[in-house]
Amino acid sequence: MKVTLNGTCSECYQVTDLILTEKTKEIICPTCGHAVPTLDEGSMASLAKDQSKRAIMGIIAALAFVVAGFLFLGFVTNSGGGVPGNIPSLPGNAMGMLVGSIVMLLVSLGLGFVAASRNYVCEF
Ligand SMILES: [Zn+2]
Repeated sequence: MKVTLNGTCSECYQVTDLILTEKTKEIICPTCGHAVPTLDEGSMASLAKDQSKRAIMGIIAALAFVVAGFLFLGFVTNSGGGVPGNIPSLPGNAMGMLVGSIVMLLVSLGLGFVAASRNYVCEF
């Protein structure tokens, strides 16, 4: 179980990346040595769960992006390399790949946004 937080020291206002595990007993400022007790087990568990969910979403977003890239390549190949000015006359599979590529790109953007949207801040 690991939790990453953006910590701000209440004594010297130094901002640090805090990586807390279940073995962490205290949050200590690397600059001035100010220390506070670490988070309780309940908060640690819910933060860890939330962060691992976001990490998985980030991986899925990256995969969706790769799939979108391959689908777009497939579209380019199947469309005969023509200029896409005449979309209705494209072969069906090229059309499907284009739509699939756009959908996967949107999925990737959406998930990537959700995965990156929350940053945990902790003042100690
Ligand atoms: Zn400090």
